[in-house]
Amino acid sequence: MQKRNFAVIGHPIGHTMSPFIHKRLFELAGEKGDYTIFDVSPHELPEKITALNELGGYNITIPNKQAIIPYLDRLDKKAALYGSVNTVKNGSVREGFTTDPDGFLKALEAGNISFSGNIAIIGCGGAARTFLYEAALAGCHITLAARDVNKADFLAKEAVQKIPHADIKTCLISDLNGDFDLLANATPVGMYPHIDNMPVSEKALSKCRNVFDAIYNPLETVLIKKAKANGSNAVGGMSMLVWQAVAAHEIWDNSVYNISDINQLILDSAAEMKKIFY
Ligand code: NAP
Repeated sequence: MQKRNFAVIGHPIGHTMSPFIHKRLFELAGEKGDYTIFDVSPHELPEKITALNELGGYNITIPNKQAIIPYLDRLDKKAALYGSVNTVKNGSVREGFTTDPDGFLKALEAGNISFSGNIAIIGCGGAARTFLYEAALAGCHITLAARDVNKADFLAKEAVQKIPHADIKTCLISDLNGDFDLLANATPVGMYPHIDNMPVSEKALSKCRNVFDAIYNPLETVLIKKAKANGSNAVGGMSMLVWQAVAAHEIWDNSVYNISDINQLILDSAAEMKKIFY
């Protein structure tokens, strides 16, 4: 019989939107699927892997995205490029995927943001890496800005090794200057509870035609609000969070969704998040 239990694993894994979003996605697709939370740290993986193998599939969050790889039979192309897995499908083989890049690209597409031209990416962590690699693969001219330019240089060098045509300049966030087709924030600056903070100056923001903020709590950060007030097109991170979950269901069940149902789920997830955090 097909395995229909799914989960998210992470450590520590306090509040997570994953069960809410994935349960809805099973319902919308007309698929049976139970979805739970497992607190698993990397050093517990050897003893927990048998139980994880019994699931139909699972999502992986920090700090297990690399640690899970030795327990899988195969990685798909993007997971291999990133060296990171956030979704596993257990079938005749255990295959690892990363759906963050898909979630990011779908969020831009759904927000009518064309992914081309001059792009500024703020930050040097996991989300920045996703934005950077995808921008490089899309042939964008990239400025990678960080509070520590050495970290930006390190990440840029890594990207060029993997994607040799990548066109990347680096700078300090405070020196960010120029006309950008898209500014993508990949720092937690402006995230709950520090919701009055903004990762770039208003002057730098005023020259950006489109803005994407990875932050999904709050639904609209100050960065998004100010970008909209400037007349820019702006999309927040809840869209990416939901679209990366959609990509997991495409992998598990080949599920197909109606865009209006996903837009409603983005709004409902924001309302659910308010119940959890406020
Ligand atoms: P991460 O790996 O910890 O990286 C955070 C980055 O932000 C680092 O480069 C860090 O710089 C920088 N940073 C932190 N505080 C800063 C400050 N005050 N000023 C300037 N830079 C600062 O985190 P992540 O996983 O990339 O996540 C970043 C944000 O994206 C979080 O808010 C997360 O919730 C969100 N996110 C959303 C999605 C989604 O689906 N919407 C997916 C992934 C992440 P240092 O290295 O110098 O500390």
